[in-house]
Amino acid sequence: MTAANQLNPPARFLMGPGPSDVHPRVLKAMATPLIGHLDPQFIHIMDAVKDMLRQLFKTKNELTIPVSATGSAGMETCFVNLLEPGDTALVCVNGVFGNRMSDIVERCGAKLVRIDAAWGSPIDPDQVKQALQKRSPKLVAIVHAETSTGVLGPLEQISKIVHDAGALFLVDTVTSLAGTDVRVDDWQIDAVYSGTQKCISAPPGLSPVSFSPAAVEAMEKRKTKVQSWYLDMTMVRNYWAGAKRVYHHTAPVSMVYSLYEALRLIFEEGLEARFERHRRNHQLLRDGLEELGFEFIVPPDYRLPMLNAVKLPPTIDDAPVRSQLLNEYNIEVGGGLGDFAGKIWRVGLMGCSCTKNHVNMFLAALRQIIK
Ligand SMILES: *Cc1c(COP(=O)(O)O)cnc(C)c1O
Repeated sequence: MTAANQLNPPARFLMGPGPSDVHPRVLKAMATPLIGHLDPQFIHIMDAVKDMLRQLFKTKNELTIPVSATGSAGMETCFVNLLEPGDTALVCVNGVFGNRMSDIVERCGAKLVRIDAAWGSPIDPDQVKQALQKRSPKLVAIVHAETSTGVLGPLEQISKIVHDAGALFLVDTVTSLAGTDVRVDDWQIDAVYSGTQKCISAPPGLSPVSFSPAAVEAMEKRKTKVQSWYLDMTMVRNYWAGAKRVYHHTAPVSMVYSLYEALRLIFEEGLEARFERHRRNHQLLRDGLEELGFEFIVPPDYRLPMLNAVKLPPTIDDAPVRSQLLNEYNIEVGGGLGDFAGKIWRVGLMGCSCTKNHVNMFLAALRQIIK
């Protein structure tokens, strides 16, 4: 038997839809010696992570924790805990992640009502209003930052419509959190999830979630068990938030260290300064890409700063140019998904990948390639 070669991946610049570049302090935190996951010292670390997550989500929600798995598990956590068989859920779909939400709703045995908008367009709040005149779903779900298309969802307007109809409001903030403002309490979001590898700039592996008191009440009123053992918040919350911590699963200790350090970096920078950095570098990238003949597929008012979805000019061939960027320049950018495959690029400026140097290096590489 022989061992495989020592790990030696190239030093890439991650400018796709995630993961993003990770700060050396976060990588170093992951190499911190392990302690037991029920060690009182670890419980202090868990509490500090919960506290920083509440500040990041701008919420007082007590039930705010990182789920021990990636963003999709956060999505699943929100749906499986709030929906029971026979419930109705309304899902806004204008890209890949709205579709994924719809799939999970059906797997919960709930009735799915979809509100569709064209990929690249935001959901029209009037459409939600009209749908809610015909039905009273238990919850309405929407993606804040649709990573497949670069569209920002109009959360505030839709939240009001949802609450007027007496439903819970569930929001995906995987790509938006820590890159643009997310106000869970002000926008009356009842269930929210995110991921560590986008604008938080930690490795993939944890999914911060937060539930409002109304969402917790809905969980407590369930008549059936949550279909997923692992994601059942009634048990997970005793582990992460109970007065006496009860073993449920083993928290991924090193991942929690990484999130701890990434959150510290976020608050050292300051949220407003971080959002402004994302806006400014987006503008720098926009100007450069437009000069090269790329066109943004999303109208300016709904454009994400951290995920730039652009139509390729006829002079650029998708796959060969992206391979050249990767192989010769170590720069990763994302291609299009679904109907957009081969037609658009998704250039990520998330967290530590959102710097002037990233933007200038990428534009310079592109100019050399297409010359
Ligand atoms: C990346 C992403 C997810 C899924 O997260 P994973 O960590 O890949 O499981 C969900 N929603 C959105 C909007 C995303 O960008």
